[in-house]
Amino acid sequence: MLAKSKKKPAAKKKPGSAKPKAAKIAKASKAAKTARAAGTDPKRVAAILAKLDEAYPNATCELKHENAFQLLISTILSAQCTDVRVNQVAETLYKKFPNPEAFAHATPSELEQEIRPTGFFRNKTKSVMGASKAILETFGGQVPRTMEEILTLPGVARKTGNVVLGTAYGIASGIVVDTHVQRLSNRLDLTRNDDPKKIEQDLMQIIPRGKWIQFSHQIIWHGRRVCQARKPKCVECNLETLCYSKDKTV
Ligand code: SF4
Repeated sequence: MLAKSKKKPAAKKKPGSAKPKAAKIAKASKAAKTARAAGTDPKRVAAILAKLDEAYPNATCELKHENAFQLLISTILSAQCTDVRVNQVAETLYKKFPNPEAFAHATPSELEQEIRPTGFFRNKTKSVMGASKAILETFGGQVPRTMEEILTLPGVARKTGNVVLGTAYGIASGIVVDTHVQRLSNRLDLTRNDDPKKIEQDLMQIIPRGKWIQFSHQIIWHGRRVCQARKPKCVECNLETLCYSKDKTV
């Protein structure tokens, strides 16, 4: 009689060894996102910066302003609104409300009507009045000069902080990441992230600090004039030979 072959007991699965497929895919996709974009080779980045200098040597912030305070207010108003519309509103706004005192002590309903064309006017009124009060009470009437301090103002996040510190004071604390910088950084493969905070960190690692302010202006100009969201004008783009975006139209 043949001896009964002993069945090997099934090997105990180590806890966590059989991850569901979905979890593995999610992990792989996260790893791909956190990996550095292939386009961040220093020579390529330098070539992109040179092309931007060539195309936009005088790029600057398109929000009209006479001082840091006006730029702060206009930047708050520019959320979900065009710079052109904000500039139209600003023409009369700063005549009626020329300084932080005037904004801080404004009648909210009157201010709301002034800034109504920029949209979200109730929230924006709260932000500009709150920021003006904080500037008076905490910062001696001056827009603060550090990111840490400027972020304490109501309605101010890193994007606004970077616009004001960079444009009004020439202080490079970071890189403005608005909708254009977000889109173009991805198209140019300078980041693989979608979150503005992560995009800013990625850009700060590959763009020399001395170029942070100008780079933001130049990319915003390029996004408005050439690399538009729906139909980028790739035939007119001087970055075309460096760009391998799937959105290219040539
Ligand atoms: S080639 Fe087209 S997609 Fe690429 S940066 Fe230029 S305009 Fe944008």
